[in-house]
Amino acid sequence: MRLSGGSAEAGAAERAVPAAVALLRDLIGFESVSHRSNRDIADYIADYLARFGVEARRLPNAAGDKVALLATLGPADQPGVVLSAHTDVVPVEGQRWSSPPFAATLRDQRVYGRGSTDMKGFIATVLAAVPKFLGTAGRTPVHIALSYDEEVGCAGADDLVAAVAGLPAPPALCIVGEPTGLRVARAHKGKLARRLVFTGRGGHSALPHRAANAVEAAARMAVALSALGAELRVRHDPAFDPPWSSVHVGSLHGGGALNLVPDRAVLEFEVRTLPGEDEAALIARLDALQREAHAALAAQAPEAGVAMEPISAYPGLDTPAQSWPVTLGAALSGAAAAGAGEPTTLAFGTEAGLYARAGIPTIVCGPGDIARAHKADEWIGFDELAAAGAMMSRLASLLHAPLDAWPLRAPASPPTS
Ligand SMILES: [Zn+2]
Repeated sequence: MRLSGGSAEAGAAERAVPAAVALLRDLIGFESVSHRSNRDIADYIADYLARFGVEARRLPNAAGDKVALLATLGPADQPGVVLSAHTDVVPVEGQRWSSPPFAATLRDQRVYGRGSTDMKGFIATVLAAVPKFLGTAGRTPVHIALSYDEEVGCAGADDLVAAVAGLPAPPALCIVGEPTGLRVARAHKGKLARRLVFTGRGGHSALPHRAANAVEAAARMAVALSALGAELRVRHDPAFDPPWSSVHVGSLHGGGALNLVPDRAVLEFEVRTLPGEDEAALIARLDALQREAHAALAAQAPEAGVAMEPISAYPGLDTPAQSWPVTLGAALSGAAAAGAGEPTTLAFGTEAGLYARAGIPTIVCGPGDIARAHKADEWIGFDELAAAGAMMSRLASLLHAPLDAWPLRAPASPPTS
């Protein structure tokens, strides 16, 4: 953590730093890349909440090296609003950063550092608003839900989403704070990614009839997946680009030498599904393709076959454009007042689909720009953090009333401190 400029200037800048910026600076300092433990950053957040008398429930993974947090501010027996974020970030290897990625740099009214936009900036504004939420949450609670392993296919949210859905009063709204420039995003595609491991029988290339060629079997699968992709194009939704569910083979590895029949090949593919795609039917098709490939290989050599390893899977999001979560989100975020109240769709996936599948009305709306995410010199502006802070203030100003009495127009923001 460091400030640019000399020590006097740095001291002045330090005093002028808003609370959310100071929190973000701390959060960036935790190297919570998905393949590492997130316990440090989770402890920091839990300790911060504890200072306000808020106890965070910990939901560890099976290995115990990762932990999700769920905290409730306000009356737990009333339906409330979930503010959802992931604590993990993508790696920085191979990127040319002009400042240390895990030591926030404050420059030109921006915070530079890995995760500033995706999505520790949102977490910082939520944490900075905790005193406000506690001051107003008389009738409607706010739940803070923080996951891990989002950047590796939303792998770490299942327990957390189940815990949120199982709260004493199921939440009425979930806001996933991924970077949307504070516009409301109502939909994104789902994703299903798998690895297929083809085991054949090796042998001399002059005697292929005594072997089972794993590369050829994998190649036939790639063609079959491509054909499936062509079939899926019949369903259209113009809200998305491309406007259909797509199938993509990302890698196919196998074989070592021309004079040997390859006994192993590995193929990775993904399907990006339109909301409303019949996922069960799709999975049944994929399983059938695997079974056919397995049977064909096993017919050549009984020990041969195809094994499947899931890589990731998350459902799409499809909150109706004309719905109260969208209208309320646009009012809270200030998008409606800025003339940007029309909801958008996202080209990237989020945990929002998981919350929606659990029956919680969900939108995506957070500060920053996804175009800056996952890149070198990722940043977020003080102004973007302030706008997200104003969103939290508007939310806080409503918590004294039960949710079903909330106006759908933007409440006046109390002055931000
Ligand atoms: Zn993200």
